[in-house]
Amino acid sequence: MTAPHIVPPGSTIGILGGGQLGRMTAMAAARLGYRCRVYAPDEHAIAGDVAAGHVRGAYDDAPALRRFADQVDVITYEFENVPEAAVATCLERKPVRPGVKPIHVAQHRLREKEFFASLGIGTADYQPVRSEAELAAATVLPGILKTCREGYDGKGQARVTDRPSLAAAWEKLGRRECILEALVDFRCEVSAIVARGLDGSMRCFPIGLNDHRDGILRTTTVPADLPADVLTTAERCGLALARGLDLVGLVALEMFATHDGRVLANEMAPRPHNSGHWTIDACATSQFEQLVRAICGLPLGAVDIVAPSRMENLIGAEANDWPRYLADPSARLHLYGKASARPGRKMGHVTFVQPAASGRPSTT
Ligand code: AMP
Repeated sequence: MTAPHIVPPGSTIGILGGGQLGRMTAMAAARLGYRCRVYAPDEHAIAGDVAAGHVRGAYDDAPALRRFADQVDVITYEFENVPEAAVATCLERKPVRPGVKPIHVAQHRLREKEFFASLGIGTADYQPVRSEAELAAATVLPGILKTCREGYDGKGQARVTDRPSLAAAWEKLGRRECILEALVDFRCEVSAIVARGLDGSMRCFPIGLNDHRDGILRTTTVPADLPADVLTTAERCGLALARGLDLVGLVALEMFATHDGRVLANEMAPRPHNSGHWTIDACATSQFEQLVRAICGLPLGAVDIVAPSRMENLIGAEANDWPRYLADPSARLHLYGKASARPGRKMGHVTFVQPAASGRPSTT
């Protein structure tokens, strides 16, 4: 007999959010025989294009969320800024995995840093800037002033070098609740993506080496060419986070590897992550399939690298280069079906997979 908490293939997964992460989750779910229904306020949701249905509704429309929950067997979310109340409403009817706690932590940078510290995960030095008094007391300079809420891809933050630039930046950020972080002189950025199943089992994908430009991820390379102890520490931080959140699903942890061998957590996201897109084409199990496995109570898949690879984001007009990628036998092209290529918008990605040495004897 099937255990009650297992959601078997043939069931329907609800996804809060209609972007590319939901889209790729729905595609992975379909391969395992699941249907997905997407809930998003947008008239057109690119996740809805590949799902069994798109329910158009606001995140504060509790009756609509309940109706949505009644149509599905388990619910997940594809962005961490989904309102806590929306998740709580869905939870009245159906399991939501990874649940409320991970978004509660991830939605607030200060809370997030404190949570890392409580788990023994290192971070850059930081101070809260929420008032004139805290502004006057700030000493972590040079640094980066970030709004506690709703900043992503480098938005809602400013580099500051001294007190006048700090005061000006706080003014510019609307005197909102902020965190001032010490500027880390990092060697590189890495990320750990960890899946945790219903039974508490965990798998960490191989650590990705990430390159950001203007606050946006540009490339992820695996395997990361870094000392083994750095990779082990990064993995340990990711595993500690997944366990500490008591999460069922996926969590990504972005970290800085410093020149003196330390690994410092920057931020987390309890969902599939851009730095894990390479797993679709170059890992035994993709991060999207792993999410489906985790939230449905299936055994987690293997996370071995099938081939060394490099993922490149296609931002804005870069996606117009698709003919070039189609002509490259090492390139695996993914386009998200977004209508307009605004600057800075993630339109797709391409993973360059190192060709495997062919064991086939030559026939010529
Ligand atoms: P975030 O919005 O926190 O993900 O930051 C976007 C990018 O800004 C990171 O990936 C880093 O490249 C850079 N960054 C953020 N925080 C720091 C920091 N404390 N020190 C140095 N660089 C940072």
